[in-house]
Amino acid sequence: MKAVKVTPKKKNSVRMVDIPIPSLKRNQVLVKVLYVGIDGTDRDIIDGLYGKPSTNKKDLVLGHEALGMVEKASTTVKNLKVGDLVVPMVRRPDNCINCQHDEQDMCLTGNYTERGITGQDGYMSEYFTEQEKYLIKIPKSIGKKAVLLEPISVAEKAIRTALYSKKRFLWKPSTALVTGSGTLGILCSLILRSKGFEVIIVDRSDNVRKQKIFDMTSIRHFNTNKINLHDIPKKTRRNIDIFIEATGNSSVALHGIMVAGVNSTSVLLSISGGDSSIQLCSDCFNDGLVLQNKTVIGSVNANRIDFLSGIKSIKKIEKIWPGLLESLITKEYSLDKMAEAIQYLKDNIKVIIKMPQI
Ligand code: BGC
Ligand code: ZN
Repeated sequence: MKAVKVTPKKKNSVRMVDIPIPSLKRNQVLVKVLYVGIDGTDRDIIDGLYGKPSTNKKDLVLGHEALGMVEKASTTVKNLKVGDLVVPMVRRPDNCINCQHDEQDMCLTGNYTERGITGQDGYMSEYFTEQEKYLIKIPKSIGKKAVLLEPISVAEKAIRTALYSKKRFLWKPSTALVTGSGTLGILCSLILRSKGFEVIIVDRSDNVRKQKIFDMTSIRHFNTNKINLHDIPKKTRRNIDIFIEATGNSSVALHGIMVAGVNSTSVLLSISGGDSSIQLCSDCFNDGLVLQNKTVIGSVNANRIDFLSGIKSIKKIEKIWPGLLESLITKEYSLDKMAEAIQYLKDNIKVIIKMPQI
């Protein structure tokens, strides 16, 4: 079967290869891949900045955002059958206590693996095998837009954690600030909006395609080339209750925490890599956190429950704004165009790879 491989930590090693179709083991399902989404993590792996090869190998099959169809199931599989649509989870456990309790997104040791990212082959191949417990069954009515479920699950975990963070007192958050209008920033904004939040999104452009989405969903957009992030609460006359960072820029993360208001929770979602540093008034930063009871949370990956609530959010968003989610998929490439596809990440909202058989 055809697959896309990289040699992690080696720049531009992405290539198409032929590998055997994996054989089915006990409790496993053979999945025929329909679509694979690509994101900044894939780009970082291709650029040689991130990722680890599959155990005992030099290479890694790329891809962690997939939608597939069950092709075959071992006789011990209980809840999936041939023809079911499935989305695989990304992270696999080690033997720490959290991982052993199905909380591998909260792994204690860092020795987890992630399919298509670190230590295990991913899903950018015509087929993959996986245990039933790491596959999420997708209602047929959702169809193709389920390729967005993995990034949606990351957004769901962020929002779930934010909402949980202030349970100890009467907290009625109503305004959210999201920095970054890549796929994750837009998905976070749509989920928050569908929950009734006022949402302010900032980026550094005036993209017509994105502005249409913001207008349709009544999300307020600001271009921080034109307005200082710190002026947003005054300009909008809102207290920022929830701040979600999705730009990949650590300076935006720190400034955003300062912009977030009294009793706020900030959730940092993006990996910035690199070793940039900035000058910042650390007393202002500290006093702001203390005197305004602010909470700051880092969040990565997602739990099975976040995939399940993601399915509910997809249905809800589809009901409020029919067709909107699918319109976020702005570019589709065939598998052999993977190297090209990765270059268009910036100009698009979501780029996906359509697998050969369909
Ligand atoms: C994936 C997460 C993963 C993270 C860090 C993201 O792109 O969506 O599932 O945990 O990268 O590797
Ligand atoms: Zn662990």
